Amino acid sequence: MRAWVATYFFLLFFCLRTPGLGLTIQIDYRYDVTGFFDHPDARAAIEAAARRWSRIINQPLAAVDVGDDEDDRRFVLRHPGTGKLIEVSSASGVESDALVEAGASPADEYWGGIQIPADTFIVFVGSRDLDSLGLAGPLGGGTNFEEVFEEVDGLLNRGFNVLPEFGNLTVIGGFASFDSDGEFEWHFNHLTTPEQGTVDFYSIALHELGHCFGLGATGVVEWEGLIEGDQYLGANALSAYRQDHESNLESLPVQGMVENRFDYHWKDGAIDSIIFPLGQPNYLSTVGRGGVQEVLMSATAYFAPGVPRHEVTNIDVGALKDLGWSVLEVDPPQEPPIELQILRDVSGEFILKFSSQLGKNYRIQTSLDSHQWNDVTPSILGKNEITTWLSGDPNFIDPNGLGAYKKAGFFRVVKD
Ligand SMILES: [Zn+2]
Repeated sequence: MRAWVATYFFLLFFCLRTPGLGLTIQIDYRYDVTGFFDHPDARAAIEAAARRWSRIINQPLAAVDVGDDEDDRRFVLRHPGTGKLIEVSSASGVESDALVEAGASPADEYWGGIQIPADTFIVFVGSRDLDSLGLAGPLGGGTNFEEVFEEVDGLLNRGFNVLPEFGNLTVIGGFASFDSDGEFEWHFNHLTTPEQGTVDFYSIALHELGHCFGLGATGVVEWEGLIEGDQYLGANALSAYRQDHESNLESLPVQGMVENRFDYHWKDGAIDSIIFPLGQPNYLSTVGRGGVQEVLMSATAYFAPGVPRHEVTNIDVGALKDLGWSVLEVDPPQEPPIELQILRDVSGEFILKFSSQLGKNYRIQTSLDSHQWNDVTPSILGKNEITTWLSGDPNFIDPNGLGAYKKAGFFRVVKD
């Protein structure tokens, strides 16, 4: 009989709640049983948050393509809509599950194969009634044969930072749940300023996705290994702190014991950092370029007055490096802006015309100063023809505030 081990490198985190091409973070809605993401602005915001991280992380990950075979690999997720732990198996069913034959319990779902493209990280999202604003974590290793945990390029490790013992950071993907009990009002639109009294969904989505990579995560040995007592010692996050503050601090505080459990978030209210400037942050409604905000991965999102949105900071990105993720070191050369014809109609609205290529993605951006650019629409798919875009379209929202684009008049189109 072959040996198998059940290991749930898992955890929960309560919170409030391309050089390379970058990592593709694929948001998967199959477990959104409550229909939270039927709201198009919620969907657009979490995808914008995923694109933000994908421009920061450029870690290669091996492709996964496993079927029903003698290893029948599994992973574990916490169902974002129900909170139940679910084991997913690559076998076609319990009858052909080699782990069951070896004495393990049946899996909860049989997918008959698990395929994930190279450099792609899947995040299952959904919503339920939570005590916090969000809850997220990496997918866990589940019940598997020992050799599956040891596969360097396999489902669990994908060539990432493999340690000799079990307990590597699993890099299949993550899960993220968002609160739906109506205790507070979400502000979903990431291209507008959150109204007072609402909670900015883009900020919370960035935070929860951070947990999916292992940041602030309970049960992730790489993260726990960076902490002694209630102090974080990772060299890259510390170096980021020293640069942001011209300080010689030796460690960074985490929450520590809170109500009988260890909370691995950064300590509330204790650490400020500058927004990570590479990879096109969404500066709208934040402290802006060069300003300091509380680190993204602190336990509670205390938004400063007049600053209703948080972004990823230098310290959060340093911590990603401490975990072994490869991150953006310099902004990749951007494709030159697309040649544009800009017209105005009688009401002062802008008409942009540019030639697009079939299958390529184009983003319209606007700016107040021609230096900081913000996306103004979901991306546009090219069609091998002249594409026309109108600022007067009823779906257009000015990310710089009502009507600001008319005064500034800066537009550009970038191809992804
Ligand atoms: Zn959290």
